Amino acid sequence: MRRFLDSHVADPVGRPTRSMRRVAGVVAAGAMVACTTAVLAGSSVTASPSTSLPREALSAQEGIGDPYFPQAGNPGYRVRHYDIDVSYTPATRVLAGTTTVVLRAAARLPSFNLDLLLRASRVTVNGTRADFSQGRHELTVRPSEPVGAGEVARVAVTYRGKPIGIGYGAETPFEKTATGAIAVGEPPIAAWWFPSNDHPSDKATFTTTLTVPRGYEAISNGALTGRRTTKGVTVWTWSVRSQLATYLAFAAFGQYDVQRGRTASGIPYLYAFEHGLGDVSAAARRSVRSTPSILRWLEQVWGGYPYENVGGVVPNVRLGYALENQTRPVYGRDMFRYGPYRSLVVHELAHQWFGDRVAVRRWRHIWLNEGYATYSEWLWSRHNGGRTPQQQLRVRYDNLEASNPFWKLEIGDPGRERLFDSAVYDRGAMTLQALRNRLGTRAFFRVSRQWVRGNADGLGSTRELKLLAERVSGEQLDGLFKAWLFSGSKPAPTRANGL
Ligand SMILES: [Zn+2]
Repeated sequence: MRRFLDSHVADPVGRPTRSMRRVAGVVAAGAMVACTTAVLAGSSVTASPSTSLPREALSAQEGIGDPYFPQAGNPGYRVRHYDIDVSYTPATRVLAGTTTVVLRAAARLPSFNLDLLLRASRVTVNGTRADFSQGRHELTVRPSEPVGAGEVARVAVTYRGKPIGIGYGAETPFEKTATGAIAVGEPPIAAWWFPSNDHPSDKATFTTTLTVPRGYEAISNGALTGRRTTKGVTVWTWSVRSQLATYLAFAAFGQYDVQRGRTASGIPYLYAFEHGLGDVSAAARRSVRSTPSILRWLEQVWGGYPYENVGGVVPNVRLGYALENQTRPVYGRDMFRYGPYRSLVVHELAHQWFGDRVAVRRWRHIWLNEGYATYSEWLWSRHNGGRTPQQQLRVRYDNLEASNPFWKLEIGDPGRERLFDSAVYDRGAMTLQALRNRLGTRAFFRVSRQWVRGNADGLGSTRELKLLAERVSGEQLDGLFKAWLFSGSKPAPTRANGL
């Protein structure tokens, strides 16, 4: 994710120079302070589930165990596949349909939960009607027979609702756009449009079938495997064969200009620009159409692109951010208000390696995503004649005094409210440059590529990156990781800290 912050115009590449000059080519300490106040308002609603289980047993079942989002995800099973089949009608704003969740029970399950904010009307497990009850966020399913440990079950949930305007905590991520609506957000979004085990540590494959009125488009992740128009509606089917985290799944419903083609290396791309982008249309198109060349450059830096499709979607709505939706990032129209923004495309595409292919095991590891995406922007800047990453590190280190709030946040565990604090981004990238200084360039890139390519379960944590870096380099890195990620203070200028 990249939020729109004016201080980021210090980046000399891919941005208009008009506002850049105000920053005078150096990151102003004051701007950094302003940045650190940007927070993600977290979800804090306590559910009131309507089940008769004792409170303790219930809360133990409600989440997968991520302290930042206690209700996110569910223990007891892993999802193999989501088959989403929903319609969306812009005129009524109603989303309705059935999602089939193919799950494998890790333990005997007399009941289990899915995360869903829309109202369910029917649930079946392996084709047999199941009892269910629903709280604010938790759908509790009680199959007629418990699902046995190790068994695979097909859980079909039929539901409907008006997701626009539904709030959960401070979040209302399902947004109206000029001609339709879009389901996009991080971390929460899935519960607004399909029942899921909503946590990045449980990835799955997806088939997404979206029905819209004739004349409308419905865009999602992966490959477009079907499109047919019957009886006044068009049915779009999308297929994701690689493992996808629930928050990286998106759906855009509306009237879009869709462009398809192949990159020079043969990867199919699909761009979608919602109608009416007006004065940002040219900048949005110019930016998103640079996807193939940026992708080729990123492959040279981080290794082969991990997916079979690519592209970008620009809904006609001021989202205030862009998000790295797998295979097809979504860019809010306002991201292009100052002109083409190619380093944003670099950021979101870099996440395909760092964030998507290797997702966070817990949300506190978010710096792994944002640090690498920001570091990719720095490398891109250098590639285009700007400062080196080492200069980016130095300018921040030298200009931000130890008393600056920038150093206070422990970005290795920033807290839910500050997941997307600018320190997570900039200090995350500084941490990587410090690691590169410590290990040497060759070892640093070997570690980073192995992190992606050799990562069997597609998940990562700070500790796992440290262990990999230690294994590859033979260095002991506890001190460096602690100084940059967990000290809450400015790292001492030592060789051990990569300074
Ligand atoms: Zn990001």
